[in-house]
Amino acid sequence: MANFHPETDLLTEYTAGSLPLAQAACISVHIQHCEHCQQLSSQMSEVGAALFNNLQPQAVGDELLDSVLARLDEEAPLSYAKAEDDRNATPAILQRLMSGDFSDLNWKKIGAALRISYIKLGDPKHEFALYHIKAGGRIPEHTHRGTEMTLVLEGGFSDADGTYHKGDFIFRRPEDVHAPTAVQSEDCICLAVLDAPLKFTGWKFRWMNPFLKLKAV
Ligand SMILES: [Zn+2]
Repeated sequence: MANFHPETDLLTEYTAGSLPLAQAACISVHIQHCEHCQQLSSQMSEVGAALFNNLQPQAVGDELLDSVLARLDEEAPLSYAKAEDDRNATPAILQRLMSGDFSDLNWKKIGAALRISYIKLGDPKHEFALYHIKAGGRIPEHTHRGTEMTLVLEGGFSDADGTYHKGDFIFRRPEDVHAPTAVQSEDCICLAVLDAPLKFTGWKFRWMNPFLKLKAV
């Protein structure tokens, strides 16, 4: 059972379908493991549907009507719907992450304790990657230029704010600095969604920044 969940505003955006693809994918993996958020999200959609049904119909001009009718022929966008029977619509890579199959991913070694596997998800504005941290290993201290979503898939890690285990969801804002350390007992695998690359702050690790596609600082 997860102890750390997406905040209400994120879950609301997820439920409304307005989150960018990579962030929605991360939350959908959390929700698969979290009954608490499943319930919240389905309550939110019920409230949303009730509000929608209470809207008074408005007369529309021909132009608007035509444009709406034209959109009916468009291909439906990828859906991360919560319903059981929609699971087949979930991209294969997400199904694998949910089932814990990380076997033949392409891992890049970044230092002694860290490997990263970048996953293409079709969301050019976000980096969607798996981090594999060796038991007891530490990710160098870093700041974020943007936000960072982390979901623990295996093992656990801790930072100055707490200790996180399988299923836990952590959201960091640009001003947050942290240096996650994997638990001692087992390796940690996390899913991370970034809207800007990490920036390592410790002098020893500055050299790593170019490897992580960063501009020189
Ligand atoms: Zn949750």
